[in-house]
Amino acid sequence: CGIVGYVGPNDTLGVLLGGLKRLEYRGYDSAGIAVIDPSGGLSVRKRSGKLSRLVELLDDAPVSASGTGIGHTRWATHGGPTDVNAHPHLGDGGRLALIHNGIVENFAELRAELERDGITLLSETDTEVVAALLGREVERVGDLETAFRAVVRRLRGTFTLLAVHLDAPDTVVAARHNSPLVIGLGEGENFLGSDVAAFVEFTRRAVAVEEDNIAVITPQSVRVTDFAGDPVEFAEYEIAWDA
Ligand code: GLU
Repeated sequence: CGIVGYVGPNDTLGVLLGGLKRLEYRGYDSAGIAVIDPSGGLSVRKRSGKLSRLVELLDDAPVSASGTGIGHTRWATHGGPTDVNAHPHLGDGGRLALIHNGIVENFAELRAELERDGITLLSETDTEVVAALLGREVERVGDLETAFRAVVRRLRGTFTLLAVHLDAPDTVVAARHNSPLVIGLGEGENFLGSDVAAFVEFTRRAVAVEEDNIAVITPQSVRVTDFAGDPVEFAEYEIAWDA
């Protein structure tokens, strides 16, 4: 149950795996990452078990990251701790990847709605339902942020969500509801985390995202809005940490 996101010119995989390592103390049963690769594709690697198993997988099947990625450690609530149930989950024909900490309480009715639409899900998770809804919405409205806003308003329960989409290869979009989300501010790079441990190695400048807000980060910008899309002011603070 940890989340990390990165946009910037540095070693994306190193940032993601380092962040997940620092979040290990929270406990987890699976781990996974998604990165945008330099040729404009989306690479996903995920595995049940320890982070070391994900690292082994990455040794066998390396990814090349261009500077945008998300990483997740899972504490299973819906569906056992298997490779298929591990996050990220995909939507929009594999063009978007989503990670989630929390529980989507109304996932059964949302899943039934998707099945009526002919959408088949691969996992038993509540999270893949959100990925599929988001994919369908991106196809409808054309961009990830607008789609994200529409989808999070339909979810009940608890969530920290991060998503990337091939159409916006330098962007990570995030939302929170009853679950924590923090932004880390860098120079020409920005971070997201379920707590500051995810990125404290790289920056001490942080922004606590408030309840029911959406954050959109690129290497050069940070924006926060509410679920209706109205801009929200945010204040930066300095992380006090004895690393
Ligand atoms: N409910 C999701 C799942 O079971 C996310 C669990 C978590 O917080 O890691 O996959």
